[in-house]
Amino acid sequence: HAKDLNDMNLLCFQEDMYRKLERSALIKDLAEQAIKRDEFIIHYQKKVDINTKEIVGVEALTRWSSKELGNIPPSEFIPLINNTSLIYGFTEYIMLKALDDLSTIKERFGDEVTVSINIPPNIFYMKSFEEGLKKGIRARGINPKYICLEITEDVFIGDFKKVQTIIKNLREFGVKISLDDFGTGYSSLNYISKFSLDEIKIDKQFIDSIHTDPKTQLLLKSIIDIAKGFEYIVVAEGVESNEQIEALKSIDCSIVQGYIFSRPEPL
Ligand code: C2E
Ligand code: MG
Ligand code: MG
Ligand code: MG
Repeated sequence: HAKDLNDMNLLCFQEDMYRKLERSALIKDLAEQAIKRDEFIIHYQKKVDINTKEIVGVEALTRWSSKELGNIPPSEFIPLINNTSLIYGFTEYIMLKALDDLSTIKERFGDEVTVSINIPPNIFYMKSFEEGLKKGIRARGINPKYICLEITEDVFIGDFKKVQTIIKNLREFGVKISLDDFGTGYSSLNYISKFSLDEIKIDKQFIDSIHTDPKTQLLLKSIIDIAKGFEYIVVAEGVESNEQIEALKSIDCSIVQGYIFSRPEPL
């Protein structure tokens, strides 16, 4: 019966929704304890120069192995804690861990290697974040040029002037600013012309078709030309195949991050 079927579907849908909401609430609860219990660990993924084969940097990507729920990927837990007060403590915790790891990273991968840390938009706006970062860098005697902050385009949706000032202050202090997931926002080209950055990371969705779709390749070639004009470093994210590497070489994109070289791994 059609009506019964619909009722059935609705019931399943409600149950499914309920389970999702329950899991979300649980994750938020557990995230708070996870910091105290040291359940978050950082994996690092290499950024490689495909011409010289040199490792130029690593990106800190957080992994959570929860006692109650097992492995929870960042794509699930970051959005959930992003609009709670927890995100501040979480970001500071990861940031300081990454600063602590820098000396080991240099020993392992080379003296000029940088470490990139993902910073959520609402945190980037906080004065206390900037102060905490500077304090953490000074306390460890780190040269700030080895620290790169990855921000996403949603940071620009807020107060344009304010973001400009924050970026200017941080770059004057010496840290690098990278625009992550480039091309997924509404006016990516506008943003890169209005802000002074150090790096843009071309989102994986473009890299996925760079070797099969001539239009994508042409688009990326133009973006790379523009970015080079601004003296930004261009990084290709999510590179998985040699065909993609060849396509990237042909448009002069030399810095690559992706499974083809390495997955994110613990130190
Ligand atoms: P993201 O910053 O854009 O990081 C790149 C994502 O692509 C990572 O996923 C990485 O593991 C994945 N990736 C790299 N190369 C390849 C590839 O060749 N193929 C495929 N399929 N994937 C590749 P991950 O680690 O699951 O992180 C997802 C997102 O979660 C990150 O995207 C970032 O936005 C966020 N995230 C991760 N760690 C942190 C953190 O400590 N703080 C904050 N605020 N966000 C984080
Ligand atoms: Mg990133
Ligand atoms: Mg990205
Ligand atoms: Mg991403």
